[in-house]
Amino acid sequence: MYKSRAYSAASATSPMGSTQIPRRDPTDADVQIEILYCGICHSDLHTVRNEWKDVWPTVYPCVPGHEIVGRVARVGSRVTKFKPGDLAAVGCLVDSDGTCPHCRGGVEQFCAGATFTYNAPDRHGTAPVTYGGYSDSIVVNERFVVRVPKNLSLAGAAPLLCAGITTYSPMRHWRVGKGKKVGIVGLGGLGHMGVKFAHAFGARVVVFTTSPGKREDALRLGADEVVVSRNANEMQKHAGSFDFILDCVSADHDINAYLQLLRPDGTVTLVGAPEKPLAVSAFSLLFGRRSLAGSPIGGLAETQEMLDFCGEHGITSDVEVIPIQKVNEAYERLVRADVKYRFCIDMASLKAE
Ligand code: NAP
Ligand code: ZN
Repeated sequence: MYKSRAYSAASATSPMGSTQIPRRDPTDADVQIEILYCGICHSDLHTVRNEWKDVWPTVYPCVPGHEIVGRVARVGSRVTKFKPGDLAAVGCLVDSDGTCPHCRGGVEQFCAGATFTYNAPDRHGTAPVTYGGYSDSIVVNERFVVRVPKNLSLAGAAPLLCAGITTYSPMRHWRVGKGKKVGIVGLGGLGHMGVKFAHAFGARVVVFTTSPGKREDALRLGADEVVVSRNANEMQKHAGSFDFILDCVSADHDINAYLQLLRPDGTVTLVGAPEKPLAVSAFSLLFGRRSLAGSPIGGLAETQEMLDFCGEHGITSDVEVIPIQKVNEAYERLVRADVKYRFCIDMASLKAE
């Protein structure tokens, strides 16, 4: 075991601060990574503030962070994919049972025994729960470590590990592409990646935002049209016209307003995970035989596929790089939807603690 510097929250209401956490020494199958950048996902904030307490209560101290990019420091004797000095990345999963049909099928996100990167029982017993990437170092089984294309900026690549795969995966599953009209709701960390991917896949992309000031950015990111969702007239113009809508909103909102924009057999897929349940009108679904679906992150093979796609197409996240000392301020801004479009922590700043 060794000590790693980190930022943790002691309770749902305390600000995050500097601490030291235990990390296991790499086993034969493990990769030890020196973390260079970690994105800030709204899920980090939901977890730190225990907003998902009914489904996934937070164990404190909590070290969040699952958009991790870094350099390999040490590898176990059976590791074949990585060597010291390589770039490496870790997303939302750090382990799974490896034997169930989901793991064998490359969709580890559906494994009942999947271990999330933070706030999940630590199967190695190093600590009560796993600790995430707001830290200078992490040890992960090589099956859960992916490669970062060399041409991408590291800070811009970190958010691909959650915001990237979480939007890429459902759009591949629901076959977003040429000839499809696609809506992206909420231009935050996930939403702006959704716009980039939907555009790259050749779809017609409409962004729905509550922030009129994001209109120009949405067009620059790849949207063909922008709708301010609080304007009922603008919304009504699109009634019954969408094949697919990806809902990336972190807070309570009216989902029926989007269901009625679907054409028959269209689908709204939730990737946003608000604290409270959403109210769904049966009529929003049954007229037009519409579907409401959800999608969690993605498997390891698809995560690597997404990173390679980003490498080929030069896609990264638009990031505001911050020192870790600004993390509490960044959370306040995240709640106000005031980030363009992902905070990313430069982990070198942790050395100052
Ligand atoms: P984010 O950067 O904070 O973006 C959320 C966006 O939602 C905001 O930028 C804002 O966009 C919109 N929004 C915020 N409050 C709103 C309100 N009251 N009404 C309507 N729109 C509102 O968050 P994120 O990191 O992208 O995460 C989004 C959600 O996805 C979170 O709930 C997160 O936990 C979840 N998530 C799920 C998965 C998964 O596996 N399914 C993975 C990662 C994250 P506008 O300013 O454009 O309106
Ligand atoms: Zn996330």
